[in-house]
Amino acid sequence: MAHVIPAPPITTVPVVGGGDYPVRRIYCVGRNYAAHIREMGFDPDREKPFFFAKPTDAIVLNNGEIPYPPQTKNYHHEIELVVAMAKGGKDIAIDKALDHVYGYAVGLDMTRRDLQFQFRDAGRPWDMAKGFDQSAPIAAISPVAKVGHIGKGAIWLEVNGKKTQNSDLQNLIWNVPETISYLSGFVELFPGDLIYTGTPDGVGPVVKGDRMVGHVDGLEDLTITII
Ligand code: MN
Repeated sequence: MAHVIPAPPITTVPVVGGGDYPVRRIYCVGRNYAAHIREMGFDPDREKPFFFAKPTDAIVLNNGEIPYPPQTKNYHHEIELVVAMAKGGKDIAIDKALDHVYGYAVGLDMTRRDLQFQFRDAGRPWDMAKGFDQSAPIAAISPVAKVGHIGKGAIWLEVNGKKTQNSDLQNLIWNVPETISYLSGFVELFPGDLIYTGTPDGVGPVVKGDRMVGHVDGLEDLTITII
């Protein structure tokens, strides 16, 4: 049966060492570092992390340029470790979760903070604050076969050469195996699923002309410019 309109392209992310990783879905964790929960005005002892999603075609590849998005005056960076799944499953056990990981990458969960707070305070969905066009930059994926599992080490972001976010993956409230396990209790995971694991403190605005460089120890740096 012929498609009645052109089929949308498959979104892919380059893999360090060669090949492309086809993306199925993008999941994200909210409030997964205590210091970031505090800067958002919440108590980390009382607030658990949670999940939301972005559309797959929100991906922007490394060294990309992003036009400043419409409908915001407070466009924020959130540097995050991204997990790329190799195998899916439902109710994946914590102690088996890492066997399902293909690799890791540096990502940015770009956010319209003004809209997020408006929606949050009104009890409305976050989609237009989080899941908008070009809101999911990502660098190349490093396979576990090359770099092993990434569970500790520095995670930071520089804007125009100045460090704005600076933490360690050991500060994650839900670590990678826990995140995979809990998420697979809500939805069945599949190969091609990406999980943005949450941002540390230091989130802040970027404007036209800003150049962001994101880093996680052991992975390819991510460079994105706002135009
Ligand atoms: Mn985030």
